[in-house]
Amino acid sequence: MPGGTDQTLQPFAWRAETLYPDTEIVSRTHEGIVRSDYSEYADRTAQLANALDAAGYGDGERIGTVCWNHHRHFETYFGVPGMGAQLHTINPLLPDKHIQYIVENAADRTIFVDQSFLPKVEGAVADDPESFASVDRYVVMGGQVPETELDAVAYESFIEGHSTTYDWPTLDEERPAGLCYTSGTTGKPKGVEYTQQMLWSHTMALQTPQGIPVADDDVVMPVVPMFHVNAWGLPFSTTAGGAKHVYPGPQPEPADLAALIEDEGVTLTAGVPTVWLGLMEYVEDNDVDLSSLDRLVVGGSAAPEAMIRFFDDHDVELIHAWGMTETAPVGTVAHVKADLEDADYETRLDKRTKQGLIVPGLEFRVVDDAGEAVPHDGEAFGELHVRGPWVTTEYFARPEATEAEFVDGYLKTGDVVTVDGDGYIKIVDRAKDVIKSGGEWISSVELENELMAHEAVAEAAVIGVPHERWQERPLALVVPTEDADTGTLEAGLREHILASYPKWWVPDSVVVIDEVPKTATGKFNKQALRAEYGDESLVEGRVPEDAAPER
Ligand code: AMP
Repeated sequence: MPGGTDQTLQPFAWRAETLYPDTEIVSRTHEGIVRSDYSEYADRTAQLANALDAAGYGDGERIGTVCWNHHRHFETYFGVPGMGAQLHTINPLLPDKHIQYIVENAADRTIFVDQSFLPKVEGAVADDPESFASVDRYVVMGGQVPETELDAVAYESFIEGHSTTYDWPTLDEERPAGLCYTSGTTGKPKGVEYTQQMLWSHTMALQTPQGIPVADDDVVMPVVPMFHVNAWGLPFSTTAGGAKHVYPGPQPEPADLAALIEDEGVTLTAGVPTVWLGLMEYVEDNDVDLSSLDRLVVGGSAAPEAMIRFFDDHDVELIHAWGMTETAPVGTVAHVKADLEDADYETRLDKRTKQGLIVPGLEFRVVDDAGEAVPHDGEAFGELHVRGPWVTTEYFARPEATEAEFVDGYLKTGDVVTVDGDGYIKIVDRAKDVIKSGGEWISSVELENELMAHEAVAEAAVIGVPHERWQERPLALVVPTEDADTGTLEAGLREHILASYPKWWVPDSVVVIDEVPKTATGKFNKQALRAEYGDESLVEGRVPEDAAPER
């Protein structure tokens, strides 16, 4: 896959195919473990590009995916943007109404979907066919298409018979290559476009020693889903480094992850804290050989200190990182600075629990409510603003959202942080009214509206409370109407939410209160509610095992 002189993804694939044709790409799938290499990858991405061409897609058109992490999804990562189309990864764990909005907003031409997500997509289409009007074909990831109402073709049939060479176009670096929606802000999901140049520069920053570099002797397993900000960019940086890929496939359990680490010799892996809590429990109860594992990247939510200690005890370096969909995503990495290398363990640990140091290539500032920069003293806090070559400067087709979320070329992150004298950024609060559970967002405002639409509810507020396994879970504070039956209230509300939202959105607990406290401007005073009810004991032990989505 040759490139041109612009900053595009193509040279990464070209280098891997040219220098490392035999390096493996291993994938856990519904059909078992599938092994291939960069040479076969080159053939199959060319076949995919030819198939997309033949189907009439290309030139900036959007190709959606609703898939786990596997080799076919990886083929779309270079194959789709390489032929000039735009790869739109869609989060299958979202409520149907979000998926409908997203597909309509992006006007996807086709959707590549895993067999296991087919019922979810079918349901969303049946419920609102109009929002899928732009989609003229579904490509089911695998060799066969199960019974379906949708106009579907199997991926293997889609690419079969097409040439294994493709005349890759020379692309402009400003061409959109990717698209991912974020629900991590108040209001409707917002689209973030990644140009070729953004993905190129993000990859190059990751490859610096102060990023998360991948070398040709690494074996990289992204557990972070490929529908979450390009699996944090690892499929691109792993290819850039010429390393072996390991994709954990559909709904990997801790036992699957442990087996892949052992069998494939994984050296680097990455995911949200919930995933690693599961692995930690599994490692404690079973005889697992983690000796190949060198680095484990944790982000999406704060890495608990006990997790860093646990992996230190197992000789695995836990690297804590922060990022956002808007930042492609990596923005900070908590490496220990050279002058702290000799500091005692607790001092270094303290730095590593922070979100970290800005990666080379980006700039940040932290401003208080008055718009003044706060001192870097580890005490003063304000909102984190970031800017740089791989930070978006606008939202896709949403000028009003762009207006609100960017200032002076900086992205307003909505994260409230301190910065210490060494430059380590630490998140201390969140200015946005959303709850992050197991790495996935829940909108408290949407839940409040849904609760208040119930006949037994006069007013309702939803807050996130800390939770050991899921980091945060929603708690509903409800003022019932006068004639409401409080005995059946919680069960009734649970059913009401489940009618429109996935199980993991349902608040774990409903607390009846007399009144929702308000701010001077009449808004719900979430701070006061969090101070009074934000205690984990209120939801502890009440979360059903399958409440939040597993990844
Ligand atoms: P998303 O766009 O879904 O990737 O979510 C980005 C948001 O997740 C950030 O703005 C933070 O609020 C949160 N986040 C990401 N990484 C971390 C981290 N290491 N610690 C705490 N919060 C994080």
